[in-house]
Amino acid sequence: MGGGLTGLWIAWKLTSGPGPVRRVTLLEASSRFSGRIKTKYDSSGEPLYEEGAWRLPTNHERMLQLCKDLGLPLMEVRSEGRQSMQAWAGADGPWVTAQTPQVPMLCSSRTLSTWDRLASERGVEFADDSAARTGYAGIDIMAAGSDAYGVEAMATQQPREEAEVNRSYVVPKRGLSAICEELVTRLKARPDRVRLLLNARVQDVRLQEPGARTQVEATLRADHNAFRTQTFDGDAVVLAAPPECVASFPSSFQLLRPILESLEGVPLFKAYAPVGREFAALTCLGPAFHLKSDTLLQQIISGTYADANMVQLAYCAGRRAEALERLRLCRNAEHTICEEILRLLSPRCDKGAVRQLLASTGMDFFFWKNAVHIWRPTFELDVSKKSREACVLPCGPAYPHVFLCGEAYSTVQGWGEGALQTAEWVLSALQAMGSDVGARTPVPSMISLRGLQLQLVNTVPPGMLAAGSRIIDASRWKKVHPGGERAITNHEGEDIELLFAAMQHPAYAYGFLFALQIGWLTPGVRPK
Ligand SMILES: Cc1cc2nc3c(=O)[nH]c(=O)nc-3n(C[C@H](O)[C@H](O)[C@H](O)COP(=O)(O)OP(=O)(O)OC[C@H]3O[C@@H](n4cnc5c(N)ncnc54)[C@H](O)[C@@H]3O)c2cc1C
Repeated sequence: MGGGLTGLWIAWKLTSGPGPVRRVTLLEASSRFSGRIKTKYDSSGEPLYEEGAWRLPTNHERMLQLCKDLGLPLMEVRSEGRQSMQAWAGADGPWVTAQTPQVPMLCSSRTLSTWDRLASERGVEFADDSAARTGYAGIDIMAAGSDAYGVEAMATQQPREEAEVNRSYVVPKRGLSAICEELVTRLKARPDRVRLLLNARVQDVRLQEPGARTQVEATLRADHNAFRTQTFDGDAVVLAAPPECVASFPSSFQLLRPILESLEGVPLFKAYAPVGREFAALTCLGPAFHLKSDTLLQQIISGTYADANMVQLAYCAGRRAEALERLRLCRNAEHTICEEILRLLSPRCDKGAVRQLLASTGMDFFFWKNAVHIWRPTFELDVSKKSREACVLPCGPAYPHVFLCGEAYSTVQGWGEGALQTAEWVLSALQAMGSDVGARTPVPSMISLRGLQLQLVNTVPPGMLAAGSRIIDASRWKKVHPGGERAITNHEGEDIELLFAAMQHPAYAYGFLFALQIGWLTPGVRPK
C-alpha cells in the first residue's frame, strides 16, 4: 500500500533480484505516484519548483546512493551553504545570525521535547525564540531522539553555524520527482512480477493468522464518479503510508493504535512567486539566499532551479503554516505575505518597487497538513529502539506478515532518508522470511531473525501488564500515573486492553503502551 518513495523503492528492490518474492501488487490511492515528492515542471518539462520535498542533505547516503543507482545527475542547492545563509549577517533586523548560547542539558529524559527542555531551563521566551530561529517553529515539540530538520541541534547546540550553515544539499537536476519516475519506469518494465494500480485506495487490512493470506480491501476508482471494491490477498502486506492513512482501517486500527498514537503530523506551508531575479535585485540579496525570521513567513529562499526564476516567499511549519493556510482560504495570503516581506525588507529596499513587483504576479501555495511526522514526546520513548519495532513487527508475532514503513516511523523523520531507512528494515525482514513468505516460519526464530530484542512470554511477568498481546513494563509508569500507583498495581499481571478503552484514555496515552512495551505474548496465549 502506497506509491510514494517508500512503496516504490520496496517494490523495486523486492522484484529486482531472484529473491523469494514472486509478485508485488502496489496499490496507490491517488492518480499519481510519488506522494509527498512533487516537482512542478514548465511546459517544456524543465523543473520550476518543488511542492513538497525539495533538497537532499549530502550526508543522506541512502538517498544519494539511490540517485546514483537510478543514473540521476545531481546539482547543488544554491540557497544553502555558508555564503548564502550569511548573506545578511550583521544586518539589523530579525535575521538569524547570532549563535545560540549553549544550553546545559540538565534533564536528559526522553519524555521532553526540545521546546520543553529549553522552556524549563531557559524560560519560555528563549524557547520560543530558539524555535523561531530554526525556521521550523512548530517542529520543536518533538522528543529528543529524532531530530527532523536538525531543529534540536539548531536550537540547543553551539555553535549553530556548524549545525546549520555548513550543511550542503543537492537535488536531481531533473527534479526530485525524477527519482520516483525512474522507479516507476523500472517497475513497469517487469509486468510479469509487478502490478501497479493507481486510484486504488486501501480501506482495510484484515489480519490473518500465520499461514493464511492477508486480505486487503481497496476501493478502485473505475470512472469519474464510479468506484468498485476489490479484495486482494497476499502473503505479506507492507503499509508504506503515514500513520493518519492507516488509522482508518477498521480491522487493524486497534492493534496498530499504540504505534499510530505515538506519532504526530506537522504541517508545512510554501508560497512561490515567479519573480526570482527581480526580487533578488530589488532586495540586494544576490542570486542565492536563505533567510530565516521570527515572522509568519519563517523562511524566504531563492529558487532551487536557477532558470525557473522562482522565489519561495514563505516556508513555515506548525501554527504559522496553519495560519497562512487559513489566510489563503479567505484570499488574504498574498496580501499578508507581501506586507510581511515589506516590513522585513523595507530598511534595505525600495518598498514601492517590491510591492509593485509582488502585486504584478500570482503566488502558488502548498499546504501539507501532515507534511512530516514526529515521534510525540511520549513517556520514555526510546526512538532508536522503537522505530525498528514499529516497522518490522507492528502487530506482533501473531501477524508477522504485516509491516509499516515510511518517513514517519523512522529515526530520520522529515526526510526521504528516513523513508528509505525503514524500507531497508522491512525489505530485510521480508527477505528473512525466505521462500516461506507466508510466515509458516516458527515465531520465536522469526523474532530473532528480525533483530529485535523483544521478549516472547507465555504469561504476563510479575510487575507487568498486558495490553492485548503487548507486554508492558509499568514499573516506571506507576510512579507517575495520574490515578496513583494503585491504578497500575491493582491490575498487574492482567490484560488491561478493555479497561484502557473503557476508561476512554486520550490518544496520547496509547503511546505509553508502545513506549513501555518490552515484549509480546506468545500467539495463542491469553492472559487473565
Ligand atoms: C513540504 C515538504 C517538505 C519536505 N522536505 C523534504 C526535503 O527537503 N528532503 C527530504 O528528503 N524530504 C522532505 N520531505 C519528506 C519527504 O517528502 C518524505 O519523507 C517522503 O516523500 C515520504 O515518502 P513515503 O513514501 O514514505 O510517503 P508518501 O510520500 O506520503 O507516500 C505515501 C503514499 O501512500 C498513498 N496512500 C495513502 N493512503 C493510502 C491508501 N489508503 N491506499 C493506498 N495508498 C495510500 C499516498 O497517496 C502516497 O502516495 C518533505 C515533505 C514535505 C511535505
